[in-house]
Amino acid sequence: MSDAPVAVVTGGNRGIGLETCRQLAALGHRVVLTARDAAKGEAAARKLGAGVEAHRLDVTSVTDATALAEHLADRYGQLDVLVNNAAIGYDTWQRVSTADLHQVREAAETNVYGPWQLVQALLPLLRASRQARIVNVSSGAGAIDDLGAGTPAYSITKLALNGLTLMLARDLRHDRILVNAVCPGWVDTDMGGGGGRPVAEGAAGVVWAATLPGGGPTGGFFRDRRKIPW
Ligand code: NAP
Repeated sequence: MSDAPVAVVTGGNRGIGLETCRQLAALGHRVVLTARDAAKGEAAARKLGAGVEAHRLDVTSVTDATALAEHLADRYGQLDVLVNNAAIGYDTWQRVSTADLHQVREAAETNVYGPWQLVQALLPLLRASRQARIVNVSSGAGAIDDLGAGTPAYSITKLALNGLTLMLARDLRHDRILVNAVCPGWVDTDMGGGGGRPVAEGAAGVVWAATLPGGGPTGGFFRDRRKIPW
């Protein structure tokens, strides 16, 4: 049986998530590419080839999180890397003073409570790993000093995700689980909206945090392997 590290990536069917799966597989990880649409996940995993399996996961669903935990326990018995990548709600059309709070709450379900719930569901498996890493894919749009009036749902939820990162890092330090937030920069994906840098460059910083050596940083916010202000 392989002892290659096992990695779960959320929103793995396209964009930065898909590229993160590709890069982790190239490094020899056994990758569980998750997607909320099973067919899209399977099509994406097929493209990446051996070492990548698809599993359905809507990050807002606790039932899906539990089913994923059961699958991982049966098949691998542990989890080494969790990349919380899935996100929605880059609301360039809104301003904070007039924001539709329904859209804010919806973004929070995916961008904050999703990762939080998934960490809780997968924690026993992460604890079974000798070198567990959690990467929360965040954004400079959630950095306190850069907050403006725009993209309120997105910025507030990424700010909260950064807070979650810090709190989890402190809580899980005694388990030697490294927890970090990574901003991929402006990347040419559907969310990036056209323009931005190649997806491989954005994903590289995520993969770096997912493969930190023992004793590496925890509770940090990084872009391109360098610490950036919260
Ligand atoms: P993207 O192209 O819009 O892809 C988003 C992914 O998240 C898709 O796979 C989508 O699945 C998935 N997703 C959305 N809601 C989900 C849910 N409830 N359950 C499971 N999967 C769900 O975005 P991206 O540019 O690759 O962004 C990836 C990450 O990087 C995000 O956290 C984003 O905030 C961050 N980021 C991106 C940029 C940028 O410039 N692109 C900049 C800073 C940070 P479907 O295909 O089913 O919709």
